Amino acid sequence: ADYSPNIGSFLVDPTQQHIGQLVQPWNLLSSLQVMLKSFNQNTLTHVVVAPPFVYVDLVKNSLTDRIEISAQNSWIGKGGAFTGEISVEQLTDIGCKWVILGHSERRHVIGEDDQFIGKKAAYALSQGLGVIACIGELLNEREEGKTFDVYAVPSWDNVVIAYEPVWAIGTGKVATPQQAQEVHVAVRDWLKKNVSAEVASKTRIIYGGSVNGGNCAELAKQEDIDGFLVGGASLKGPEFATIVNSVT
Ligand code: 13P
Repeated sequence: ADYSPNIGSFLVDPTQQHIGQLVQPWNLLSSLQVMLKSFNQNTLTHVVVAPPFVYVDLVKNSLTDRIEISAQNSWIGKGGAFTGEISVEQLTDIGCKWVILGHSERRHVIGEDDQFIGKKAAYALSQGLGVIACIGELLNEREEGKTFDVYAVPSWDNVVIAYEPVWAIGTGKVATPQQAQEVHVAVRDWLKKNVSAEVASKTRIIYGGSVNGGNCAELAKQEDIDGFLVGGASLKGPEFATIVNSVT
């Protein structure tokens, strides 16, 4: 795949809707079916859906191959006796192509730190799973360099970086297009300095946090916003279609 930044990458992660509230998977499925009907099939936009683990198989078998499946988390190393954890091997076995790592809820609620997330990312990548690596807040509040041991990344083609300001997730408060663009540029600069100019220009940096049908177009116009990590709006079919079609 050509991962140049002008190809959108849209990721659905209905985490909040499923933890605690137990919204049924058919809500997600019917939303995705509606989205697929209005989805511009000619677009190169890459759509990845990240259902909760228990619905991965159901969602995967209900969608076309045009949409890839992501998990919302994975174990840090090779699978073994780690009761309750889900291994990278299990994820690839059931057809997951991606895993979301370092989501703010995992950092702030569950206590995962950069080192732990970095280990998970290295292992997932080593096994061929793509990583959607979440970073939050402003760059100067987080030492991004620790999240990724850049030498442990075998191929940056398999990494998507998601910027999600914590205050914007599930709150209805979206970062302004300028605020988001500013951070995305800083992430790209970081990649340029720490990895290479080529990786910096090819890596997709997506924005997450209260993205909806009304604000997606302005956000998508920003040069360094390559797509979105969508939570709540992914359960609203027509709105989700608008979001998916907003980047060409
Ligand atoms: P919202 O789009 O609902 O703010 O959620 C973003 C997100 O992080 C989903 O996990």
